[in-house]
Amino acid sequence: MTTPSLTQLATDPSCMEDYDPNAMSVSQAKNYIKQYLKPVSEKEALPIHESLGRVLADTIVSPCNVPNHDNSAMDGFAFRHQDGALPLNIIGTALAGQPFQGALNQGECIKIMTGGVVPSSADCVVMQERTSVQQNLLTITELPKLGANIRKAGEDLMLGQTVLPQGHRMTPADLGLVASLGIPTVTVYRRLKVAFFSTGDELVGVGKLLAEGQIYDSNRYTLFGMLTRLGVEVSDLGAIPDNPTLLEQTLLKAAATHDAVITSGGVSVGEADHMKTLLAQHGEVLFWKMNMKPGRPLAYGKVHTASNSAHYFGLPGNPVATMVTFYQFVRDALILMMGASPKPYPTLKVECTESIKKAAGRTEFQRGVMYEVDGNWKVKPLPNQSSGVLSSMSYANCFIVLGETVANLNAGETVEVQLFEGII
Ligand code: AMP
Ligand code: MG
Repeated sequence: MTTPSLTQLATDPSCMEDYDPNAMSVSQAKNYIKQYLKPVSEKEALPIHESLGRVLADTIVSPCNVPNHDNSAMDGFAFRHQDGALPLNIIGTALAGQPFQGALNQGECIKIMTGGVVPSSADCVVMQERTSVQQNLLTITELPKLGANIRKAGEDLMLGQTVLPQGHRMTPADLGLVASLGIPTVTVYRRLKVAFFSTGDELVGVGKLLAEGQIYDSNRYTLFGMLTRLGVEVSDLGAIPDNPTLLEQTLLKAAATHDAVITSGGVSVGEADHMKTLLAQHGEVLFWKMNMKPGRPLAYGKVHTASNSAHYFGLPGNPVATMVTFYQFVRDALILMMGASPKPYPTLKVECTESIKKAAGRTEFQRGVMYEVDGNWKVKPLPNQSSGVLSSMSYANCFIVLGETVANLNAGETVEVQLFEGII
């Protein structure tokens, strides 16, 4: 079946047989979102230093061998293996960066340091500790194998090989890898521009006093942190009261100049109608009731302005739900838009040392603490799993992912966890 356009899906949901906005599974929602995302295509060249976390727009092909010459892996002596039983005349030295200029003849060797070029006339290096030296004569006390302790030219990277593919996100190791090729700049996709704002009459910015019923706007800060970690260009558009005119203005301002707009709050039942009307006027947005906890309401779509169309993610307002829906949906979507391929979070299976109450039928992302006992990693859920309790995200180090079919668990059962480290 061909993919219907977002407009078709938004106006006639029955155009997709399995589409049920009132019972969306995590994987279904991810798949729907994925169909409508397009990676950025504009490129820029950056010095290596500035490329951390950026997505390669061009494949990097090795212009040389790394290392570019055979070199010693040890401090020792380079010699001809066939001469290993002879006393060997030490005829010179090769230091890292200072090659020995000459060739070895029968019965000769050179002193060599780690990284020193192994002359083509030698085929073995013996480490210092396996030799004895008297005056200028070397005796090998333990003969290594032919070719031992020599790092071959090109054993790290070969001339002409693909080093890093287009779509790869640069890690600290990659910065060094590119430098090891002598390449000063890399071509990456431009940074994704993401705007976000909070919605809610009750929200107050930090530094102000709270009146009764008001709360500080924390989602803006968690969103700022999560987006910054991802390496996108962020625009914080503040906390907007539940006022249609202000919301409309902010939404359109954001959509005009950004690739994606993220809001928190205002998508739950009772509030959604408000956002629905607004989004229906300016784009195609789907409102889903996810069968997950936390994070039941979620909206996804596109918002159009005269100058630009932006992807829209409407996240639930509860602070934990905002974070969970970001990590389970938005992060992957943004990575795709950045030009890279999102990879599933690595999961571990570990023993849960406490019982867990859960109803089957939806996926739960409980906040857990993994801890080590005698070399074995175990996990326990934090006591308060309310979606409003943001401290559970700070004190946890993993999500305990309980699938749709999982019901109550006894202490000692095995659960799946997604570690925060590396994710957030
Ligand atoms: P909503 O999704 O707008 O119905 O909000 C659900 C809950 O999350 C309510 O208790 C809100 O007060 C709270 N909430 C919404 N937005 C934020 C925010 N930016 N920071 C902290 N809590 C919020
Ligand atoms: Mg609200």
